[in-house]
Amino acid sequence: MANADEPLADEEWLKRYNEEVKQNEELERMLQKRLDGTEHVDSWCLCGNCNRVLLQNQSECYCCNELDACKEAMSSDVSASRPSNN
Ligand SMILES: [Zn+2]
Repeated sequence: MANADEPLADEEWLKRYNEEVKQNEELERMLQKRLDGTEHVDSWCLCGNCNRVLLQNQSECYCCNELDACKEAMSSDVSASRPSNN
């Protein structure tokens, strides 16, 4: 390799990476609060059907409305790229 002294990661990349790590940590902290009840279910559940006793782990600490929003974003993306087959 001729460019052996080239830096593996430039500052810009590292900054973005650290930012991402921080965001993930904050998200995890938020979900943990939801899980242990520090964050009351009323403050994050939009549908009114979510119940903390049903939550087993952090990945379940989403309101179904939040998940619907994700699904909607994905499906709208799909329909946008779908060719018309009429
Ligand atoms: Zn909900």
